[in-house]
Amino acid sequence: MASKPAEILPILIAPDPVLKAPARPVATEDNDAIRVLLPRMFATMYRAPGIGLAAPQVGIGLRVAVIDLMPDEKPQPFALINPEIIAVSTELATREEGCLSLPKQYADVTRPAMVKVRYLDAHGARQEIEADGLLATCLQHEIDHLNGVLFVDHISALKRNMIMRRLAKDMRVLREEAAGR
Ligand SMILES: [Zn+2]
Repeated sequence: MASKPAEILPILIAPDPVLKAPARPVATEDNDAIRVLLPRMFATMYRAPGIGLAAPQVGIGLRVAVIDLMPDEKPQPFALINPEIIAVSTELATREEGCLSLPKQYADVTRPAMVKVRYLDAHGARQEIEADGLLATCLQHEIDHLNGVLFVDHISALKRNMIMRRLAKDMRVLREEAAGR
């Protein structure tokens, strides 16, 4: 019997207030909800397409994120439940970031180059991962979402305002196009 594909969830666009609200830790009683949510989050991320998605981006205030950097174009999905950064390097790295909640907007963000993250996987098993490069950036970006922080919160107010204005304009044009159809 073929399982039916997971439902694609709508992605909230900044400045939606849900994106600014800290998410709550997942508890045992959330297990059934998580089992349904994870495949939907992966399906939504792959469809977008993106390399990471946090639950608040689909309107769910739980500390859950999914990541897949697709190394060599092959899927390598990570589900992170209640992830915590437990160590960071003093060395910093700057990388251009984007976000599915700020479509087509990019900015250079400086963060610790290496991080160690503790989390529960999709089976509830405790895991630890040490990452550098793109994965380190992605982990910090997704964990930020669980704290109500967006990548634009790491850049100057001047650049942030420019991006938010451009995004608002893009969204207005899209809405007008949709209404005119
Ligand atoms: Zn994001």
